[in-house]
Amino acid sequence: MARPQAKATRPVPRRAPRYIYGFGAGRTDGRADMKNLLGGKGANLAEMSKIGLPVPPGFTISTDVCTYYYAHGRNYPPGLRTNVAEALRRIEKALGRRFGDPEKPLLVSVRSGARASMPGMMDTILNLGLNDRTVEGLARESGNPRFAYDSYRRFVQMYGDVVLGLKPESKDEEDPFEVALQEKKRARGVTLDTELDADALRELVGEFKALIKMRRGVVFPEEPQEQLWGAIGAVFGSWMNQRAITYRKLNGIPEEWGTAVNVQAMVFGNMGDDSGTGVAFTRDPATGENVFYGEFLMNAQGEDVVAGIRTPLPISALKDENPAAYAELVKIRRTLEQHYREMMDIEFTIQQGKLFMLQCRVGKRTAAAAIRIAVDMVRERLISTDDALRRVEPAQLSQLLRPVFDSTETKRAFDEKRLVARGLNAGPGAATGRVAFNAEDAIERAAGGEPVILVRIETSPEDIGGMNAAQGILTARGGMTSHAALVARQMGKVCVAGCEALVIDYRARTMRIADRPEVVREGDFISIDGSTGDVYLGQIATTPSEVVRVLVDRTLDAENAPTYRLYAQLMKWADKSRRLRVRANADQPDQCANAIAFGAEGVGLCRTEHMFFGEGKIEPVREMILAGTAEERRAALAKLLPLQRADFEGIFRVMAGRPVTIRTLDPPLHEFLPHDEAGQREVASALGISYERVRERVEALHEFNPMLGFRGCRLGIMYPEITEMQARAIFEAAANVKAEGIAVEPEVMIPLVGHPKELALQTDLVRGVATAVMKETGVRFRYLVGTMIEIPRGALTADEIARIAEFFSFGTNDLTQTTLGVSRDDAGRFLVPYVADLEIYPRDPFETIDREGVGALMRIAAEKGRATAPKLKLGICGEHGGDPASVAFCHELGLDYVSCSPFRLPIARLAAARAALGA
Ligand code: PEP
Ligand code: MG
Repeated sequence: MARPQAKATRPVPRRAPRYIYGFGAGRTDGRADMKNLLGGKGANLAEMSKIGLPVPPGFTISTDVCTYYYAHGRNYPPGLRTNVAEALRRIEKALGRRFGDPEKPLLVSVRSGARASMPGMMDTILNLGLNDRTVEGLARESGNPRFAYDSYRRFVQMYGDVVLGLKPESKDEEDPFEVALQEKKRARGVTLDTELDADALRELVGEFKALIKMRRGVVFPEEPQEQLWGAIGAVFGSWMNQRAITYRKLNGIPEEWGTAVNVQAMVFGNMGDDSGTGVAFTRDPATGENVFYGEFLMNAQGEDVVAGIRTPLPISALKDENPAAYAELVKIRRTLEQHYREMMDIEFTIQQGKLFMLQCRVGKRTAAAAIRIAVDMVRERLISTDDALRRVEPAQLSQLLRPVFDSTETKRAFDEKRLVARGLNAGPGAATGRVAFNAEDAIERAAGGEPVILVRIETSPEDIGGMNAAQGILTARGGMTSHAALVARQMGKVCVAGCEALVIDYRARTMRIADRPEVVREGDFISIDGSTGDVYLGQIATTPSEVVRVLVDRTLDAENAPTYRLYAQLMKWADKSRRLRVRANADQPDQCANAIAFGAEGVGLCRTEHMFFGEGKIEPVREMILAGTAEERRAALAKLLPLQRADFEGIFRVMAGRPVTIRTLDPPLHEFLPHDEAGQREVASALGISYERVRERVEALHEFNPMLGFRGCRLGIMYPEITEMQARAIFEAAANVKAEGIAVEPEVMIPLVGHPKELALQTDLVRGVATAVMKETGVRFRYLVGTMIEIPRGALTADEIARIAEFFSFGTNDLTQTTLGVSRDDAGRFLVPYVADLEIYPRDPFETIDREGVGALMRIAAEKGRATAPKLKLGICGEHGGDPASVAFCHELGLDYVSCSPFRLPIARLAAARAALGA
């Protein structure tokens, strides 16, 4: 018997995991699509080297090392040190320099680089490798001792801050290094950093080191290898610093992604007047215009531009400073856009006339810019319309609907001389609020419900919490790419940056404006216009945006509204791509008109009770509630009927044949009665009944848990005459409007159904009224009767319910409340820490559907419902209908439509399109 041949078992060589990826210097290991491993910066440095752009050589330590580092008590994987040494040798060889060599020292930068961009959140160290000996080599070699010592003092400062932890200790303290620097300038009688000579800088290095020794109790390391490993450790460590953690939470970046570390040969922008550094966007990030947009500083290093210490020059001025470098940069701009087919954000350095690229990434942009770039790139045939839809984040669209200042008010403010300064228009929109001079105060005021403008000399990553809490951000220093500008745009905040006329005193908590007498104190109102850069004292009312003026107010023609036209183009593409229909939650004809302007294809939820507070309605509603007998109740309802009917006629006329889902009465009755004695006495006298009767009725209606009490379909079941009246108002309105020649499509929706019998009782009633009205009026119309699925029992028995209902609409507000057992009205107290600190839920479940819990019930309901009635119409009308992630989930579930408030419709349309594209 033939024995089965034993397979030759050759040992597979176990390859050591790879931790280091080199770039430049003739060999590049990474690519742009390796962001998970190399981080954004590392992957793009590799890509730029690959396409032949001038990138200084370096290597990336992968995010796997970060993961390992945290999984192993902050230790590195075995072999890493050897790998780093090898990678460093390759750079040394490529450049003919050596790390720590006093003659020709190699200097490197050490930077973080996570998968998703986290601007300024983590740490960077430049000029690493300098010490008392190598600085002399650098001075000799460059023939520029001032440059060498300037680089050295920057290195000691950064290292002292990032690795050795010498930072301001309180929110009011200034950076101790900056204090020493200012003191040195004062002692030397100069005003600019660049006016300090080599001697002064050498002294400063000594003073910085002494400061570190005194305040941190450690000696600054002279040995380059020790410096390098200190820096690598600090960068990995910075993944877990507070501001990075806050940033990750705000932006939904998982902790386990980790950061990579990039070690790269230094090039110098501060080697003299033929050197410089800059940042640029391949298009204008504020407007999206197809112009090269950026800024630079000659004789400076990178952080000078971003930190806003000196105000830089516009990129076009580089043409005069260095025409060759400018021409090369313009060519690179084109190459990058053609290669990435995206608007890119770049960092470059010119060292003695030679250009180097230090970073490129997809550029952050305002909503208006995102739309313009997407639409323009389709027209330039760089991308497809599908790509264009993927390029615009749905939530960003709310920025386009943001208010601007009322022009008569700004004119008045101008006449009153309240326009006091102008800065850079860094984040569009208009904001008015009370001044806070630091992040903590801003957060505190905002938590107290006040609108806040955060005013800083310049912002730093520590300020993000305050920036997030504020309506707007105003800074005295820094350009369009300063930290304040960058982060504000990303957050969608109004921002005026680099407003140099401001004289801010953190300790006194005051701000003055150059040449003006006023003192602005903490808590005073100011107003800032992030579209023009204007700063006003006091409050200014705001008016609607361009899109809103065209669509809602109709005070502006589309021809004169370029932003609107781009928006309309994008929406057209979105509408072509989406499968989900969109409807609006609207209760009044004017809201319905807005909804149509924003693209609604129907009303998904008309909450009839909202109408009860309208003109002349609350009295008969109260009469109905206070009625002692069914007869009395009927009499009150008879008064309500024509009023409700008129409401529905108005809605049907505006909706002109689009489906309109009208829900029968839902809230507990006591919500319509006053709870205080004065109010109750007023009601009593208005209705001609005794105060005691009103009070007794209110007491009788009292519930410990009204949200789980006598509400929803339970009202219509116990008081059928209420449903009867409402159904009659709906159908008579339908008949009347149809008789006017306008199509109608009413859908009557029964709320809070948990048992099929509940629905059956109400449905029979509604259908009976429909038949009667058709007979009485002689007008036939189509209608549907369906239900909300908003309590778990309803979802779990959806197969039974679908025998009766002609449609389901998920009421995810109540469904979330009842599934989680969390009151939607009282959740704030613990839900915020639940999400932000404890990460129990990844997002607020009342904002984004909790897929595992509420979502699972929705899935069951959809499947069971369609198993009974394959054509069952499914929608959602809870607040989640306007949330992009929830819209994507609804698409996945195969719902027919989402319904949300009119102003969120553009978001829903785009989110639905992106879901269909799998974006
Ligand atoms: C819901 O519960 O999701 C819903 C839309 O109804 P309401 O918010 O009126 O309770
Ligand atoms: Mg509800």
